[in-house]
Amino acid sequence: MTFSATVLTLYPEMFPGPLGVSLSGDALARGVWSLEAKSIRDHGLGRHRTVDDTPAGGGVGMVLRCDVLAAALDAAAPPSDPRPRLLMSPRGRPLRQERVRALSAGPGVVLVCGRFEGVDERVIEGRGLEEVSIGDYVLSGGEIAAMVLLDACVRLLPGVMGKEASGHDESFEGNLLEYPHYTRPREWEGRTIPDALLSGNHAAIEKWRREQAERITRERRPDLLER
Ligand code: SAM
Repeated sequence: MTFSATVLTLYPEMFPGPLGVSLSGDALARGVWSLEAKSIRDHGLGRHRTVDDTPAGGGVGMVLRCDVLAAALDAAAPPSDPRPRLLMSPRGRPLRQERVRALSAGPGVVLVCGRFEGVDERVIEGRGLEEVSIGDYVLSGGEIAAMVLLDACVRLLPGVMGKEASGHDESFEGNLLEYPHYTRPREWEGRTIPDALLSGNHAAIEKWRREQAERITRERRPDLLER
């Protein structure tokens, strides 16, 4: 089954962008996943293909119209489409690795990229959009957030990562961040590779990595240890 991604955006020319190179780009070329970027403006109103309007109740900025976005969604993904529909949104639930893993095991995703002040609430309700955030900061549009989500999903698809595919020690696969890595040279600017990693003793290496992962997690993300 190919993981199929449809992105609704005012800027389809931004895709595949960085997703077209390296692991995700190779996988795209090999047909491991598919990507189509659809223009919301194709469903805009009138001669100027208008997609937005002023906020009800007043205030700054513009709001993406519900009728325009619903028409774009219905054309790209009819109700029978089994893929989850996600709206990239700073108000959304934070994207976590477990959700990424679940999404990558499914048929794909339909991603809506907001712009301006956001999206008319009625299309979120009416089309069952799930709001997803990639972090506690505000981007100018949902496209980069959509790319982040897709990159995280695609690298988990079978055959994309190769040898490191199991990824079981990676940050967020459990409740620990990953331990530090080293490679040659053995000494660099007076800094050496920790003895345990050069010992050849697998139990000692495991123990050192575990301790380091716990230390880094305690220092940087104690919240993970409480999950
Ligand atoms: N007025 C909105 C608010 O305060 O929540 C911010 C709108 S933002 C300027 C425009 C669009 O960028 C959003 O509709 C969303 O699609 C996207 N976006 C911005 N920050 C994001 C984030 N942290 N995660 C996901 N999408 C984001």
